[in-house]
Amino acid sequence: MFSYYDRLECSACSKQYDPHQLANLCECGSPLVARYRLDEAARTLNKEELKGDSLWRYHAMLPVQSEEGIVTMGEGMTPLLKLPRLGAQLGLSNLSVKDESVNPTGSFKARGLAMAISRAAELGVTKVAIPSAGNAGGATSAYAARAGIEAFVFMPKDVPKAFIIECEVNGAHVQLVDGLISDCGKLVGALKAENGWFELSTLKEPYRLEGKKTLGYELAEQRGWTLPDVILYPTGGGTGLIGMWKAFDEMEALGWIGSKRPRMVSVQAEGCAPMVRAFHRGDAKAEPWVNASTVAAGLRVPGGVGDAMILTALRDSEGTGVTVSDEELLENARLMGRAEGLFVCPEGGAVLAGLRKLIDQGWVQPDEEVVLFNTGSGLKYLDAFSN
Ligand SMILES: *Cc1c(COP(=O)(O)O)cnc(C)c1O
Repeated sequence: MFSYYDRLECSACSKQYDPHQLANLCECGSPLVARYRLDEAARTLNKEELKGDSLWRYHAMLPVQSEEGIVTMGEGMTPLLKLPRLGAQLGLSNLSVKDESVNPTGSFKARGLAMAISRAAELGVTKVAIPSAGNAGGATSAYAARAGIEAFVFMPKDVPKAFIIECEVNGAHVQLVDGLISDCGKLVGALKAENGWFELSTLKEPYRLEGKKTLGYELAEQRGWTLPDVILYPTGGGTGLIGMWKAFDEMEALGWIGSKRPRMVSVQAEGCAPMVRAFHRGDAKAEPWVNASTVAAGLRVPGGVGDAMILTALRDSEGTGVTVSDEELLENARLMGRAEGLFVCPEGGAVLAGLRKLIDQGWVQPDEEVVLFNTGSGLKYLDAFSN
């Protein structure tokens, strides 16, 4: 069986949808998620027999229906690197980073968009549109080019220049918007019907989440099918965090891991922290952040449809949320370079800055296993590091 994909289900009201029809949100306005025939898969799949050196080794738990449907540039199976020098500086005996900067297009957005574009192509889409704070646009433009799909990317006009150039070089139509990613999203929503675009906005399309969940499968596999004590994730729209949380449940249902879960931590910038604020207020949903501002482009997301799912994962995991200033996240990105030779994106610096705060608060203990997510390369943010 190439894929055990079974149905689309609403994350809020559980209404079910045909898995082989194009879909965006549920009628009720909440994200749809892909569900699999887990019982059947648990009986037949063997985790020792996974094949391939990209995220497509988990194809049985992914929505694409056949080998021919895969649009790939070798995304996934990124290194899980130990950080002994940094760990010693912080007093931690077991610190690692999942280094997503080595993905095609330089960030973990490749995972989600490889999946979404593969699936869109499989279902006959010829034009896609996406609002992006940067890396999602680059990944969309690349995978769309490989699939022969026309891409329309809407980005804030002040995103780092590399993102704009990358999209243009990959043949996408780029529209720069005087506003934030949320304003770009409104434009895509307003223009898509008349232009025949299929919308790929975060969690308004169900398969980017399936690509991102492979972070969780890989992390478990690379650790011998165990999970760490703490995961720190730089949170924008939250697909990686929600995706990992989903992957853990799927793997437990498959009998691949046990019931232990990491404490999930959302790290956001002080200038845009809607999820961290909602978490500490005890809210079930997050109010949009006004005047969102941070150099960490991927974190400049004032709100989104995944808020309830993010907050659920943080609470169910007994995790937390923490904010860091732009100064702290850039300083910690430089430290990753000095201590471990990794030129991480500002978002990657943010998780290290967040970890430092949680150690100071006694929330992370010296002997705990901690995994940081470096979600992309520093190379696209030269302006931020030049100051
Ligand atoms: C998009 C992005 C994020 C945030 O990811 P979400 O899944 O939207 O929360 C973090 N870091 C980088 C580099 C990004 O491009």
